Amino acid sequence: MPETRANTWADLAADPTFDAIVIGGGINGISTWRELALQGLRVLLVERSDFCSGCSAAPSRMIHGGLRYLENGEFDLVRESLAERDALLRNAPHLVRPLPTTVPITQVFSGIFNGALGFLTKRSRPANRGAVVIKLGLAFYDIFTAKRRQMPRHTFRGRAATFAAWPRLNPKLKFSATYYDAWISHPERLGLELITDTLRDCPAARALNYAELSRTDETILVRDLTNQAEVHVTARAMVNATGAWLDETNRDLLPNGGNARFVGGTKGSHLIIDNPDLLAALNGHMIYFENVDGRVCILFPYLGRVLLGSTDLRVDQAGPVRCEDDELDYILTSLRHVFPDIRVAPDQIVYTYSGVRPLPRSDEGFTGRISRGHFTRRIDGTPPVFCMIGGKWTTFRAFGEQSADMVLEALGHSRKVATLDRAIGGGQGFPADQAALQRQADTLSRRFNVPLPRAEHMLQHYGSRAEEILGHCAAGPDAPLCPGSAYTTSEIGWIIDNEMVQSPADILQRRTDLAITGAISARVIEAVTNQLAQARGWPAEKTAAEITRFRAALHRFHRVDPATLAARDARCDTDQSTQG
Ligand SMILES: Cc1cc2nc3c(=O)[nH]c(=O)nc-3n(C[C@H](O)[C@H](O)[C@H](O)COP(=O)(O)OP(=O)(O)OC[C@H]3O[C@@H](n4cnc5c(N)ncnc54)[C@H](O)[C@@H]3O)c2cc1C
Repeated sequence: MPETRANTWADLAADPTFDAIVIGGGINGISTWRELALQGLRVLLVERSDFCSGCSAAPSRMIHGGLRYLENGEFDLVRESLAERDALLRNAPHLVRPLPTTVPITQVFSGIFNGALGFLTKRSRPANRGAVVIKLGLAFYDIFTAKRRQMPRHTFRGRAATFAAWPRLNPKLKFSATYYDAWISHPERLGLELITDTLRDCPAARALNYAELSRTDETILVRDLTNQAEVHVTARAMVNATGAWLDETNRDLLPNGGNARFVGGTKGSHLIIDNPDLLAALNGHMIYFENVDGRVCILFPYLGRVLLGSTDLRVDQAGPVRCEDDELDYILTSLRHVFPDIRVAPDQIVYTYSGVRPLPRSDEGFTGRISRGHFTRRIDGTPPVFCMIGGKWTTFRAFGEQSADMVLEALGHSRKVATLDRAIGGGQGFPADQAALQRQADTLSRRFNVPLPRAEHMLQHYGSRAEEILGHCAAGPDAPLCPGSAYTTSEIGWIIDNEMVQSPADILQRRTDLAITGAISARVIEAVTNQLAQARGWPAEKTAAEITRFRAALHRFHRVDPATLAARDARCDTDQSTQG
């Protein structure tokens, strides 16, 4: 039986004492909360929006060592990131997959002096990285992963072999290097799976999205933002995991207003492009390249589209951000640098997204040089507050583990459970290789009498839980969400019942890939919101207001305007009538 919001509130009222409260339900807060809960502590996670809706919804979706960080001399960070990458490939293979990555190279020696200077002083803006520097970086990658060797070593290709594999790359190239990293298909789903696993395994743990904390003299007030209900709670320790909002949260919650300034954000934006030529030109690889200004950009095949990004611009304030016109131009110009003869039409940009990286405060002139490392600072008080600063998606487990260990020590507890080898959600019992995965898809297809692509969709989204969800769908009437959709109405119903959903955006942007892949249309928004409204008993005015609010946010923050939503429905109708 899934944990319901009403149960959680009843429990908070019945027993308001917690060992620790974690504020901020991005991936780092979720990770620390999970670590503490697994050690048997009574821990509350409070997120004021949806889980993984801040920066954790905006990564480039690479689970990576960070080749670039070697240039900054951050060897420990790269070593840790590679270990975490490999752990995620083992623990969440349904969502994290190997990503062959190719670096186009125009020079042999360039960047050596700059790279060396970077190792020594961490000061300069990187110059064009030549073959020798890249070879050195990839050799480190291979050495750091030698003992585990989960993916192939790097290889170099000469000009002829490079153009044989990627004929549309910039003709100025001289070589290419290919190595392996990983990508995550649905980061927000992985965050949610960590939560649902923890609620299942740790009876004393509680998690709330759409809730806010405020401090009174003696206690902490938790407010439900969906209905303004309030409850007073106490905690022996608090963890501030509010990412780019960390300083702001300290100001609000600490008795002295929290004077320290820990975080300085940089904004990054991405485009999702539906262009079959570009997708084919990638030949299944990520292209990891350097733009003319020395910044690293990436593009890779993403759920039948191409993900392209990102920018790295200083921002003064955390908050919702969007891909502005100049960023869009910058990213498209960078694409022409790599694939000069591929043109992207405006209507092929099906979605954009942006986020603010919660980086440690720094005066570094070149934002790419600011460390992506992480650390935790304790602010003494009653209760003490542990502030999580920096980090990347890839390292969430290690960062959570280290922060939790500080809390455990402060509370006089010791660690009982390790998480390095703990399977996540549908990663538990997921088929070990491609052949076994195909057999599993065949089995599900036959058992539930669904087409093979439907069984594959379920495995790719829910891992080993696909069987349970297909069983749910088979138990009642089911139909595609709209003609041609990979999702069905019963599947959305299962998400509504089991995945702590409060708004259409939770489903359309974070529990599914409907928005990011450009599969969202006016009709899809309406169908999903109506289903949610029915499940939650919303009156018609609230349902209409939710639709209006969601469409406005989609336009404002993701550049998907009402005309595009209508055009997608019209295209769907045309496809149906030509097929019929
Ligand atoms: C453009 C870009 C590209 C990136 N690419 C990658 C990549 O490819 N690989 C990688 O490993 N990493 C990448 N990262 C970094 C990674 O996404 C972040 O390091 C990570 O998501 C930060 O998670 P977090 O939990 O610390 O912050 P967030 O996800 O921002 O979580 C903080 C949460 O706190 C909540 N909150 C704020 N104030 C309060 C309050 N008062 N009460 C309750 N809740 C509150 C917010 O709503 C938010 O959900 C990228 C980041 C960006 C921006």
